Amino acid sequence: MKKLKDKILSSGYAINETVLKVDSFVNHQVDPKLMQEIGEYLAEKFKDRDITKVATVESSGIPPAAFTALYLGVDLVVLKKVTSKVLSDDLVQDNYSSFTSVNLSLQCLKNLLKEGDNVLVIDDFLANGQAALGSIKLIEKVGGNVSAVGILIEKSFQPGRKLLEEKGYEVLSLARIKSMSPGCIEFEE
Ligand code: 5GP
Repeated sequence: MKKLKDKILSSGYAINETVLKVDSFVNHQVDPKLMQEIGEYLAEKFKDRDITKVATVESSGIPPAAFTALYLGVDLVVLKKVTSKVLSDDLVQDNYSSFTSVNLSLQCLKNLLKEGDNVLVIDDFLANGQAALGSIKLIEKVGGNVSAVGILIEKSFQPGRKLLEEKGYEVLSLARIKSMSPGCIEFEE
């Protein structure tokens, strides 16, 4: 998606070869117009999939996922990152470590996702694929089907896409970064 790539080039910066900062429009401050356009774009791509829910891990995935859900006409389920070890009967839980955080527990109220739900998973970044896989595991635990994974920024030099595709999940990324270093960001064709 050209608009997102342009924004990454104008307002993002690579602090090294592996971490991209997008605090001014995704992670800390949010560009609502861009998020709306991303939501519209993703909804258009998946409009024929009979999606019943959109899901994302809190918190940076929420704005684009909310707009995607709005344009698809379905609800958004926010998978919660929790530190409490207390698990009640009405919750499903799973653990994972992402590229930027370790030992995260994800939780979801059982009654928000159920058997037969066809879910589109949205996240801001795809690096090693663990956040996406953690979300998928949780959704599948309650009997839901993951139709596809939509990502804003994929770092294609990291193994997330390969891991997800090997397990049979479709990944659509709006910007795929081939390589980066301070002052230089290169996209895949
Ligand atoms: P993964 O589980 O694919 O390794 O990592 C995905 C999660 O880590 C994303 O939800 C995102 O929050 C975070 N993340 C991974 N790489 C980056 C990065 O380069 N920049 C930022 N800001 N977050 C990242």
